[in-house]
Amino acid sequence: MKKNRYDHIRKSKAVSAVVFGVVQGVGFRPFIFRLAHQFGYKGWVKNIGFGVEIHLESNKDHDFKSFFLALEKEKPPLSQIEKIDIKPDEFLNCQQFEIKKSKQSQSFVFISPDISICDNCRKEMLDPKDRRYKYPFINCTDCGPRYTIVKALPYDREQTTMAHFKMCDQCREEYINPSDRRYHAQPVACAECGPEVQLKKSSTGEKISGGIDKASVLIKKGYILAVKGLGGFHLVCDAFNKKSVQRLRKIKKRQTKPFAVMASGLSVVKKFAHMDSYEKEQLCSARRPIVLLRKKKDIPGIAPYLNEIGFMLPYTPIHYLLLQNLELIVATSSNPKDSPIIKDEKEGVKSLCDYILTHNRPIHMRADDSVMKIVHKKPLFLRRARGYVPYPQKVPSSLASPKQILALGGELKDTISLYKNGYVITSQFLGDLDEYQNYTYFEETLAHLSKMFEFKPDMVVSDLHPDFHTTRYAEKMKVPHYKVQHHYAHALAAMLEHQIDRRQKVLGIILDGFGYGGDGTAWGAEFLICDYQNYQRAGHFKYIPLPGGDLASKQPWRMALAYIMDAYKNEIPTVEALSKIESKRLKAVQQMIKKNICTPMASSCGRLFDAVSYLIGLAPEEVEFEAEAPMRLESAVNEKIKEAYDYQIKGNNMPYAVSFSKTIRCVIHDIQKKIPFSVISAKFHNTLLNSLIEMSEKIRKQQDIQTVVLAGGVFLNKYLLSRSIEKLLSLDFDVIRPVHYSPNDELISLGQIAYALATLNS
Ligand SMILES: [Zn+2]
Ligand SMILES: [Zn+2]
Repeated sequence: MKKNRYDHIRKSKAVSAVVFGVVQGVGFRPFIFRLAHQFGYKGWVKNIGFGVEIHLESNKDHDFKSFFLALEKEKPPLSQIEKIDIKPDEFLNCQQFEIKKSKQSQSFVFISPDISICDNCRKEMLDPKDRRYKYPFINCTDCGPRYTIVKALPYDREQTTMAHFKMCDQCREEYINPSDRRYHAQPVACAECGPEVQLKKSSTGEKISGGIDKASVLIKKGYILAVKGLGGFHLVCDAFNKKSVQRLRKIKKRQTKPFAVMASGLSVVKKFAHMDSYEKEQLCSARRPIVLLRKKKDIPGIAPYLNEIGFMLPYTPIHYLLLQNLELIVATSSNPKDSPIIKDEKEGVKSLCDYILTHNRPIHMRADDSVMKIVHKKPLFLRRARGYVPYPQKVPSSLASPKQILALGGELKDTISLYKNGYVITSQFLGDLDEYQNYTYFEETLAHLSKMFEFKPDMVVSDLHPDFHTTRYAEKMKVPHYKVQHHYAHALAAMLEHQIDRRQKVLGIILDGFGYGGDGTAWGAEFLICDYQNYQRAGHFKYIPLPGGDLASKQPWRMALAYIMDAYKNEIPTVEALSKIESKRLKAVQQMIKKNICTPMASSCGRLFDAVSYLIGLAPEEVEFEAEAPMRLESAVNEKIKEAYDYQIKGNNMPYAVSFSKTIRCVIHDIQKKIPFSVISAKFHNTLLNSLIEMSEKIRKQQDIQTVVLAGGVFLNKYLLSRSIEKLLSLDFDVIRPVHYSPNDELISLGQIAYALATLNS
């Protein structure tokens, strides 16, 4: 904020101010109390529905400017100020400064996400003279659990999972003292009165003494432990113990999917990964995401075939204490394949580990760890959950509406979004709703958010896809139902996040797996000219058959075959990678494509990556997780290579079709010449980049468009995203991409809200 923003305040003996934003449940009122005392002002502070109200008085005329500058500068770390309205007020001759009791209100109250232990608490925890020495639930108004323990608002202890712990006298003393760091810290506790950890043998449930210290000894010995954290259980083992890592892979039924690791400190991270100052900043931030960092030294079995490893630092006191004698542990979420993270023991954690390190502070709302990488100094989310949810997103004021809107998202990587009073709350990542347990998680989260934000939708928004669980759910609700095309929703979300004006048109380049198209076909890589109410399909990648439908996404060789048949028609060349497939299967799939049996057509970009990754020998015959083949292809890129292959843009009018038939022939040619896969991968990426740029310029020439939106799961590819941004900027485009949200399908529900708001305002 600018220095002179308070210059307009008229001098007077009293002012009142309303601070909007995340200012409740984050220690804001005691902070104002202390600040007012420092300045010698009288008056009060209190929570009101949508923020905090402050009344300040002084004996003589004052502009109160320094107070508000200090407020902005020194505000509590968890708070986030949207705006401050200040006006002169009546002088009431107050005799003191006090914290007044809150008024109940129907408005939108924000609640902080869960936050890592702060430096002050950590110091106390490690100080043998402190009464909370080694206490694993230490917290204060600046840190600790929030979203995952709150059952309802307002944020008071009775409404959290701490309700059944009765504060001891000493804790209560801190809790009621406005000048104390723990004033109204709802989860405040100590060893006398608060939650405690418990170590158990998983096979028998037998309790074992020794607590956290013993747990770290067991990890060192090679055992697998389930450790209860903020949003659920982690499965944990020694990251350097190859046998334990392999055993954990068996338990999780994951042979290749990368594991995240938790390091005891930055010095350990630096041993194994490269890190710039922006990556370090995120890794150390109080939100404690997993940050993907480029490998310096590999740790076998952790992230095979990839050039990055996901690191995080300890974020609960339990993690800190656990890692006091360990350098690096695998810390992967405890869910069996395709289900949500486990939040209490009765959900079956014991079958996944040798020992359980648990505690008796219940988790009300589960949330996975958030995952990001850094592109151009800013986060690129692969998953947005713990530490970021339920952070509110403001909508452009021209879109605001008094109605309440529920958006249910898509199906894979689903999130839901709630709109109320000018803000959107987007849920944590919920996973693939085609899995029964994730669908239950979806319902659980919807109920939780609705209760917490006193939300009752006037309308609901879903995807166009008729068979999605979310679409069916929306149909059953007795409120008006809007539907939004999948790729358009990707673009809309980024537009809303970046507060794009209602009158502005943008070009959305959405590179994705596939989604239900506006014409009923499967869309994937789309160039859409969008505003908030409409879109026009300006171009797409050429349609290619997906032999076997969903199977084509799981077995990249099917896509390799489809692209080769498209590029060569009938004279199919011999390719080493395809000769590994049994010839009977190969012929069968060839026939499927020729006769168009069970072979939908799609303009996918993800599947193009699958095909190339398989052809050059990187992708396995069958992938274990979505994006595995593209991730391996990206990891292989030799960044020194500047050349690219040929491609074609077909059609004289919109929508143009970008064809990579020539590209595929060049790739095959290079494979036959035994060109290294790192070079082929780079040339392929550069080709894709060139095609995006040429399309952008072609569309700009015909339409008055200045801004390009980059979204869709393929833009998790750092090489492609960073170069696309650089190139577009150099050609004088404005470029936006999701920064607070993932570009993948987690974004859909936010975009759906934008469309509904625009329609309501039309
Ligand atoms: Zn703290
Ligand atoms: Zn206590």
